[in-house]
Amino acid sequence: MPRVFNFSAGPAMLPDDVMHQAHAEFLDYHNLGYSVCEMPHRGKDFKDIAERTEADLRELLAIPENYKVLVMPGGARAQYAAIPFNLLKGRKKAAYLDIGHWSKEAIVEAHKYCDVNVIASNADPAPTYIPPIDQWNINGDEAYLHYVDNETIGGVEFPHIPDTKGLTLVGDMSSNILSRPIDISKYGLIYACAQKNLGPAGVTLVIVREDLIGDEHPLTPAMMSYTVFSTTDSMYNTPPTFPWYMMGLVAHWVKKQGGLEEMDRMAKLRSNLLNDFIKNSDFYKNPVDPSCRSRMNVPFILADESYNDAFLNEASDVGLVNLKGHRAVGGMRASMYNAMPESGVEALISFMQAFEDKVS
Ligand SMILES: *Cc1c(COP(=O)(O)O)cnc(C)c1O
Repeated sequence: MPRVFNFSAGPAMLPDDVMHQAHAEFLDYHNLGYSVCEMPHRGKDFKDIAERTEADLRELLAIPENYKVLVMPGGARAQYAAIPFNLLKGRKKAAYLDIGHWSKEAIVEAHKYCDVNVIASNADPAPTYIPPIDQWNINGDEAYLHYVDNETIGGVEFPHIPDTKGLTLVGDMSSNILSRPIDISKYGLIYACAQKNLGPAGVTLVIVREDLIGDEHPLTPAMMSYTVFSTTDSMYNTPPTFPWYMMGLVAHWVKKQGGLEEMDRMAKLRSNLLNDFIKNSDFYKNPVDPSCRSRMNVPFILADESYNDAFLNEASDVGLVNLKGHRAVGGMRASMYNAMPESGVEALISFMQAFEDKVS
């Protein structure tokens, strides 16, 4: 079976080059006669992998000196708890912007630890726009402002870094990290689980400004403590070494492709191709407001939803898989992260055109 075009939202497609390299060195890593999976995490060889990964990520994202790069377990969801534990610093309130599914999940978790000021919300389970900033209800006494930069399920992405009126900004970039250059210095903390755009599931990248580390809640679990992870080089316990190594291969691959400017160019190319096709069609529709359409996740609805199953089955028959929308939204969703080649989007559009011609 040839490799298919995988439009899954996550775990998602990884670059072919990365998969081939991991395959080639799986049994015998750099003539050591054993695999990265079998390597002690505190030995020199894994230390080299960890250091190279951090160096590549620092270069790609232009991470300033006064930010730590942590590799943590538990996915983005563990950060939903880690953030209030570490960043409340004795305050009782935090600000959260709600623009969709993951925003809401973060709010539910934060509610366990503090008062949550939901500064604006689009309420709908499948929001299609970002509430305008003049409607954000920031009090100013919140410990930080949390938002989701790309809502993976709704397909809503911030076109710019939000203005926080002076609050420490915390961004969930799980589904669009490494897809465009970002000004890290505007943030207190950003985080991203790996399985969308960084590698296989198992590691979470946390980039945090140094002065925000320390003075965490005394009951903070060690496994969620930025102090513990920054003083142990993210090796407090045995880390998920293989996903970490894979994240390093992905970062290196992104560098070889031309870095984040090139990733952004490709992301816009892919999403514009698909959105332009949808716009010119009477059969498909993207419900998201054009001002904040995600470059990564493009949801679309068929004019006649009774064709949904046929669409998915026939797409899968021609090697276009995992196009089903999230159950909260329905319809279809094409997730196109860095690893998706332009040819994958072209193949999808050809299929969609042929399907439309057949049924309408
Ligand atoms: C996938 C995703 C999550 C959840 O990640 P887990 O690693 O499963 O906890 C959170 N936020 C966003 C934006 C996501 O895309």
